[in-house]
Amino acid sequence: TQEQLLHSQKMDAIGRLAQGVAHDFNNVLNVILGFTRERYRMDEPEAQPNADTQALANSLRGVETAAKRAHDISRRLLNFSRNDATDIQTIDLVEAVRDMRLMLHQLFSSSVHLDIQVPDETVLIKFDASQFTLAILNIASNARDAMPSGGTFGMMVTRAGPATVELTLCDNGVGMSEEVRTRIFEPYFTTKPIDRGTGVGLTVAYNIVRSVGGYISVQSRIGNGTSFRIRLPVIA
Ligand code: ADP
Repeated sequence: TQEQLLHSQKMDAIGRLAQGVAHDFNNVLNVILGFTRERYRMDEPEAQPNADTQALANSLRGVETAAKRAHDISRRLLNFSRNDATDIQTIDLVEAVRDMRLMLHQLFSSSVHLDIQVPDETVLIKFDASQFTLAILNIASNARDAMPSGGTFGMMVTRAGPATVELTLCDNGVGMSEEVRTRIFEPYFTTKPIDRGTGVGLTVAYNIVRSVGGYISVQSRIGNGTSFRIRLPVIA
């Protein structure tokens, strides 16, 4: 019947959302685990006792931020049926990108160099701050997987016109074929082993960017690296 069909469609949507949440949760947990690994390093005998306290405080701050993101993610799932999950505000893109440094530093191993370039001005955009973080984390997690033996992850903010700003996220990892590139935003499309990939990370990132009127385009070359360009409307 029609009712059964609607119900099964809703279950399908919930299943997909749950998978997305599980994926996003995983990315945030990776960040938290990164901070705890740092803690173990501090337990090593050669660690300086005074540097310890400072580093521990920094790690805890990082854990706190990541845990708040995880909290936001689960709130989104709980609010699913109420449809009021997003909290779109005016945020400064330059500040938001700078604020990602600590989290990204934890996501990547020490063999990945972070190159963040932002203009010396504020660039106001409309965004839900935690969704912004998630979109970036999802793209950055792929960059991490694409650079198993290290490399550079770049984040650049550039003005692309009076009403548009461009955020570029690039890696010099394994890259992808044209065939893969055209499919990466498809739900469940993954080239990773079953225990590594769900194929929803970029679908989520794409939907987040579209929901605020932005666009994502991707350039990639095998053996060369990948670059995601996100164009967003700027608030005058
Ligand atoms: P998942 O990471 O779970 O596979 P995604 O939707 O995040 O799902 O990514 C889909 C696919 O896109 C990946 O499996 C990978 O093949 C490809 N991909 C995404 N980002 C990159 C990248 N930076 N470098 C190389 N391949 C990438």
